[in-house]
Amino acid sequence: MNTNVVIIGCGLNGLLLAKSLEAHDINTTIIEHGEINATINDNRCIALSHQAYQMLLYLNVFSNSIKNKHGVINDIYISCANSLVHYNNKEINKGKHPLGYTISYTVLKKMLLDSVLSSKKITILQKTTYTKIQINSSMAVISTSNNLTIRTPLIVCAEGKNSKLQNAVNIGSYIFDYRQLCITFHIVHTQPNNNMSFERFGSDMPFALLPTANKFESSLILLVPKNCNQDIANMNEQLTIELVNKIIPRPLGTALKSMKKNCFPLTLNIAKKYYKKRIVLAGDALHGIHPVTGQGFNIATQDTLSLVTILREALDNGIDIGSVEVLSKFYKNRRINNAAIIHYTDKMVRTFSGKKQKILLQQLVANSLNILNKSTDVKAKIVSIINAAY
Ligand SMILES: Cc1cc2nc3c(=O)[nH]c(=O)nc-3n(C[C@H](O)[C@H](O)[C@H](O)COP(=O)(O)OP(=O)(O)OC[C@H]3O[C@@H](n4cnc5c(N)ncnc54)[C@H](O)[C@@H]3O)c2cc1C
Repeated sequence: MNTNVVIIGCGLNGLLLAKSLEAHDINTTIIEHGEINATINDNRCIALSHQAYQMLLYLNVFSNSIKNKHGVINDIYISCANSLVHYNNKEINKGKHPLGYTISYTVLKKMLLDSVLSSKKITILQKTTYTKIQINSSMAVISTSNNLTIRTPLIVCAEGKNSKLQNAVNIGSYIFDYRQLCITFHIVHTQPNNNMSFERFGSDMPFALLPTANKFESSLILLVPKNCNQDIANMNEQLTIELVNKIIPRPLGTALKSMKKNCFPLTLNIAKKYYKKRIVLAGDALHGIHPVTGQGFNIATQDTLSLVTILREALDNGIDIGSVEVLSKFYKNRRINNAAIIHYTDKMVRTFSGKKQKILLQQLVANSLNILNKSTDVKAKIVSIINAAY
């Protein structure tokens, strides 16, 4: 079997990349070792940048009912110590569009999957693993667990954090354990969310709150030290509500109900290289970052935009899409933007992970936030970096 591109991994990024390649008339085969229709027990809420949202619209991923399924972010409040930065869409972009959107991970994944399954240019091999990969001068040859041999000029590794292939081909990664867990809750509150999102650093329990499509509900991401896991995960409904009411921002009123918790261990996994001949990394396999700034999927959408354009251009010019010449363009295109977001997210988390000796540093950042809050231009620039097309 021959195909233009093989994608390994059928997560959000493998699926998005396949759809984007389809839009550029490039055939793909996705290899997924799990079951693609397995029930997803995952209540995380994904904040989409305006650019990521536009891309999903352009690719026709959203179904007609999408308007009732996604939330809108018009205000973002970031606080730490006694300082606050407020981003408002009227101030940043004259209200032309929201600062972001929110969507349930499960809904987004299902829409992407349905859209991929209806494509004639995408083949999905589920419950399949690669058993051998040979790279030669003109092709990569993949042998699979169900005895298929697939020939392709390019393999995209979208296996997520802890990618097996990334290690097998000696790319390797920098890994940092934040010694934190992220617990996600869905909460119902007495006041409407009014499209507001909140991030709080520098307290005992840092958190992020995202407005959902239902205006009396928000999605809460709570960061706790690793050893608190059992205490919070096993809390009953009443104790959970008491905990949430200690931190819930005043405009949301009080929490009435908390639904379904999920728990994620938090690490930073950054690949040491973007590519090797005939293999390129994507999504969390390339940069698995801390979720508190809500950028993991967003930066991967920008990578996808960059990669598919470069691949299409190479094909049009008869250039080998698995060559170092082509893949290095992708690296050059994305490295600065990615490094900026990875660095910003990592620094915020490490600075505010509560160590007493960091108090001076925390105060410095808090003062900078106060200054930042007064400059609309700088705030608009930050939002444009987050939204930047490559
Ligand atoms: C709590 C939380 C909140 C988040 N919030 C946001 C947010 O608001 N905004 C945002 O932009 N991002 C957010 N993120 C990040 C975002 O969810 C991830 O970046 C994204 O889901 C990663 O997708 P992926 O496809 O790269 O990897 P994964 O979802 O890990 O998918 C990898 C796929 O590869 C398959 N696979 C692995 N190994 C193999 C193999 N050897 N062979 C075949 N298949 C294989 C796996 O089964 C899986 O299906 C959040 C993350 C968390 C944890």
